[in-house]
Amino acid sequence: MKITKIDVFQVNSSDDPIWKPVLCRIYTDEGIYGDGEAAMAYGVASSGAFGMVQDLANYIMGMNPLENEVIWQKMYRSTFWGQNAGGVFTAAMSAIDMALWDIRGKYYNTPIYMLLGGKLRDNIRCYASQLQFGWQDSMGAMFSIDDYIWAAKEAVKQGYDCIKVDFLWFKPEGGKYSEGERTTILHPKTMEVVLQRLKAMREAVGPYVDIIMENHSFTDAQSAVQLARAVEPYNIYYFEEPNTPDAHTAKYISEKTNIPIANGERIFTRWQYAKFFQENTMQVAQPDIGTCGGITEVKKVCDLAYIYDVAVQVHACGSPLSTAAALHVEAAIPNFIIHEHHIVNLTPANKRLCKYDYQPENGKYKIPEKPGLGNELSDYVLNECTKVSIESNKFAW
Ligand code: MG
Repeated sequence: MKITKIDVFQVNSSDDPIWKPVLCRIYTDEGIYGDGEAAMAYGVASSGAFGMVQDLANYIMGMNPLENEVIWQKMYRSTFWGQNAGGVFTAAMSAIDMALWDIRGKYYNTPIYMLLGGKLRDNIRCYASQLQFGWQDSMGAMFSIDDYIWAAKEAVKQGYDCIKVDFLWFKPEGGKYSEGERTTILHPKTMEVVLQRLKAMREAVGPYVDIIMENHSFTDAQSAVQLARAVEPYNIYYFEEPNTPDAHTAKYISEKTNIPIANGERIFTRWQYAKFFQENTMQVAQPDIGTCGGITEVKKVCDLAYIYDVAVQVHACGSPLSTAAALHVEAAIPNFIIHEHHIVNLTPANKRLCKYDYQPENGKYKIPEKPGLGNELSDYVLNECTKVSIESNKFAW
């Protein structure tokens, strides 16, 4: 089998200008196609990923799509920029790799989890994620204590027994916290806001619902430690991205708190994870299925984590394709802890990107059972989004 064409898509809709997924479809000479995603829909890098997928598409044209390891090695070691690459490069690798796994599954007529060794579980426990945006089918902004109580109760009502919140995104009086307000030593009023919101949510959900504290690396090592020490009485399940992901400061933070630390959506490939594992500075690894190097690489990061007793939540914040890919890996690894169900997965702007809208029931996901990923790009993406078609190999590197 040979790769004959790769279409690369960028979703750039006027109704949601900050959500710009980068997607691809790989075609073969046997009529089988596979879909993938470079998961840089949020933040400011979508156009870089869009271009990078095109460059890699040029480079692998004509190769056998069933040889995912061969193609991965070629992308990593024969492109000059692959080794020690940053997120844009590994996100593009992820898109190609995810589509190759989709093709493999369809070729062997089996879901991807079977190619990974089979299911260790049928149900995937999920948490309702990013409740500072509420818990409804559009992303809002939660300011008041009552807003936070409402969002927590809404998620629990739907069957979730774990929630995640960034307490330092929105100010009580409206607007967002600035960068300078979340670093070095936090102001007593800022601490008070966090503790009041957390206390209210803990009381609203009771002692048997887990609460994850997410900081999006907005805090730095000092403010993260200050925060971690203050919230310890509220039994935080884990503390995500306390500062810029860096193995040295991660050690400083983990030595000063008893709360498990989660990290990974901005750590790429085994090489970058190794030091965090060796130093025991993360207890929950969150390799992103659409930026860490694809299914091929995320599975290896999971296996590496396993020998250090590190649990895994495969990070997925993208289209439903990324969700499907994450579920296959999470079903197949022994050190799975919980799946993130981001509020963006509830929005029509995201649901329209794929053919099927899988959602958790009672806080649990089933694993897609169709061959390959079990989901695919929608007609909306194929026909209405920006598209570049690659059909020849222009690189002779
Ligand atoms: Mg996060």
